[in-house]
Amino acid sequence: MSHWLPVLVHTPAHAALGPVLTYRSEHLLPAGTLVRVPLGNRETLGVVWDAATAEATGEFDPAKVRDIAGVLEGIPPLSRAWQQLLGFTAAYYQRSAGEVALAALPPQLRELNPEQMARRLKRKKVDAGAGGAVLAAPALTPEQATAIAQIDSQSGPFLLFGATGSGKTEVYLHCVHKLLAADPDAQALVMVPEINLTPQLEERFKARFAPLYGEQAVVSLHSGMTNPQRLKSWLSAHGGAARIVLGTRMAVFASLPKLRLIVVDEEHDPSYKSGEGARYSARDLAVYRGKLEGAKVILGSATPSLESWHHSRPAEEGGRYLRLHMPSRVGESSKLPLVRRVDMNHQPRRAIFSTPLIAAIKERVARGEQVMVFLNRRGYAPVLTCEDCGWKSECPHCSAFRVFHKIDRTLRCHHCGFTERVPRACPDCGNVDIAPFGRGTEQLEEHLAELLVDVRRHGSVTPENPDGEHVRIARIDADSTKLKGQLEEQLAAVHAGDVDVLVGTQMIAKGHDFRRITLVAAVNPDGALFSSDFRAPERLFSLLMQAAGRAGRDATLGAQSEVWLQTFQPEHGLYAALKKHDYPAFAAQQLKEREQANMPPFSAQALVRAEAKTQEAAQAFLNAARTFAQTEMAAWDGWAEALEQVFLYPAVPMAIQRVANIERAQMLIECPSRATLQQFLTAWQSVLHATRSQPECKGLIRWAIDVDPLAI
Ligand code: ADP
Ligand code: ZN
Ligand code: ZN
Repeated sequence: MSHWLPVLVHTPAHAALGPVLTYRSEHLLPAGTLVRVPLGNRETLGVVWDAATAEATGEFDPAKVRDIAGVLEGIPPLSRAWQQLLGFTAAYYQRSAGEVALAALPPQLRELNPEQMARRLKRKKVDAGAGGAVLAAPALTPEQATAIAQIDSQSGPFLLFGATGSGKTEVYLHCVHKLLAADPDAQALVMVPEINLTPQLEERFKARFAPLYGEQAVVSLHSGMTNPQRLKSWLSAHGGAARIVLGTRMAVFASLPKLRLIVVDEEHDPSYKSGEGARYSARDLAVYRGKLEGAKVILGSATPSLESWHHSRPAEEGGRYLRLHMPSRVGESSKLPLVRRVDMNHQPRRAIFSTPLIAAIKERVARGEQVMVFLNRRGYAPVLTCEDCGWKSECPHCSAFRVFHKIDRTLRCHHCGFTERVPRACPDCGNVDIAPFGRGTEQLEEHLAELLVDVRRHGSVTPENPDGEHVRIARIDADSTKLKGQLEEQLAAVHAGDVDVLVGTQMIAKGHDFRRITLVAAVNPDGALFSSDFRAPERLFSLLMQAAGRAGRDATLGAQSEVWLQTFQPEHGLYAALKKHDYPAFAAQQLKEREQANMPPFSAQALVRAEAKTQEAAQAFLNAARTFAQTEMAAWDGWAEALEQVFLYPAVPMAIQRVANIERAQMLIECPSRATLQQFLTAWQSVLHATRSQPECKGLIRWAIDVDPLAI
């Protein structure tokens, strides 16, 4: 007797329309079973899918159905909830279930043959057992106790709105502890936005839980791990040995058969949204998964996303999340930093640092405190120009300038990577005076070295060494941390006190616990106030709050920590709210604007991006699909009314129109109802597929739908 099995395999991006494949098997295998199946002339990994959830298995010719090649023995089937999660993700983000499900599994499951797999499974170490000193948890602060009591007694989801240093992580640890102690099988998932935040979190969780449940009870899952490491963590979570999984956004898909608690730390962080393949939001999926599996969900942030903030308004007003507030910092470091605005209109033109800021930096360094200077632009200068003829260091392949990197005297395109040595003279007119325009972190570093040349490291001037040591400046950005281990090394130097002034991009603003920093300066934050991206102010506010959260954590220094903002708009509402550390005021003002303009969270959005050899082809493709929706589709049975709600904007070039010689265009779609937008997109997919072959779209390379896009 043989059985027909629906099986998901990794199919190209838009095979959503293609059916789940059908294979034959001797044994009836439960949905969720991992199998190897022949596909063309190769063998590939597949997941047996539930015939009922795999919408239509489509037509198939029984004579052509092939046998599965084998079952991945020793690995229990993926749970029904996992299958539902992946099915939902594929449908919601408009991708194929095969692509989404297979991408969510560790790559080595695909690569290892059955013998290798069997060996890998055997090698699973036996529990080393608990033992060792249990690290005592601190007594809870009243705010923590109140938050935890709410989490215990309500179902959530919860938005834990707590200042940096208010003890949010301690709340997570406490909830995980309670859960694991009460239920010997229960598992918890804790997510952080960045890979480089996982080691410090892992350390904290291991210190707390390894003595109770053994080392293997805490595992990590992120893309910085090797494939064997990832497989090991995944198997351990899937088998239930791992009680706590710590990870980045990909961890939302970890197989956790006894998942009871999900924590999304820094839930506002854009890194939770994937930028390729299925453009899923791990934060949103966490909430969905929690509901699906009956797991409690805690979203934590000092500056929540406006979406989550809105969802956590009072229930009477329609809120769906429960907001928990922890406004105070723990312990003596409870004083929040003082925010100072420097009006750059009253400073010398083109000054990088204002006079009072320079004085403040010198004073802090002289006292042995650390300073963090923050500018969200790497390189020396964003563009080189010739004042004689107007030449600019454009990238020949992109509609963008190449950035001047003085360290290796190169011009580098940050979009396509095209790199050349800086020309000796203007390539157009021969003028030898080509000059950098604007500034980046490299220039800041150089300039600070000049400004601080006479300042000596705190305590380094002694009778034996009357000259003392120069102030040490370090730069942390994507350029200085390219090699593996560099970031860790640089962070360690900051922690060890070997650095007096730290210069960097947003990389340094996030999450890291720099205890001795007492002054944080944002050199030029104004750009985001005038950005065409409606989310730019939200991101700037959270970045500056985060940066401010870095300051003054070490109470023993006793100095009042400060955040300096150099701005031409000192009266701007965003800075005023920041000065008062008043996120609710900022959020209220932003949400009001969004409501008036009908923007998320007051409407749902999707974006279709198209790439083509010409801008005309990219736009023609999008506009043709739009016209079809507005005319033909509107005439389809039952669609007229729905389509009245769906607003399709005309196609426009993307902000950076050309990258690596590929033209890019996008089309925004807005709808007051998420459900209607979903319905529309699902139906419209086939239109997009069909439009592709129209003559005016010749030269179209690819297109993709981004549901709930973050960058527009
Ligand atoms: P957050 O995650 O909100 O930034 P943390 O949980 O990291 O805050 O707490 C900040 C600091 O305060 C940490 O050093 C932590 O160990 C300490 N801390 C947290 N809760 C308590 C408490 N109840 N008693 C004493 N120290 C605490
Ligand atoms: Zn010139
Ligand atoms: Zn380029």
